[in-house]
Amino acid sequence: MLMSNDAAIATERIQRLHEAAREAARSGKDQRARSHVRRAKRIAQRHRLSLPDRFDRFTCADCGAYLLPGRSARVRTQNGHVVITCDCGSHARYPYDDQ
Ligand SMILES: [Zn+2]
Repeated sequence: MLMSNDAAIATERIQRLHEAAREAARSGKDQRARSHVRRAKRIAQRHRLSLPDRFDRFTCADCGAYLLPGRSARVRTQNGHVVITCDCGSHARYPYDDQ
């Protein structure tokens, strides 16, 4: 796929923010993780990019937290779906096959 240079840079920044959010969440820095997530979403919006599926799925649509299964989120499967529940009570369902 051909991308403008701008979009390529934005994609890379989003990728870095994803990694930074995951690292922050793993070390218990939830607020920092949240701000990385927020920044990534802003960049994506500005450049009309969508977040990578794996990033999108591990962020809470309601509170913006980076979800770490077993720590800040519960994951269970139900009727062929994966249900991820955030600490804030919000949950999201995804088709299992798509993982
Ligand atoms: Zn949440």
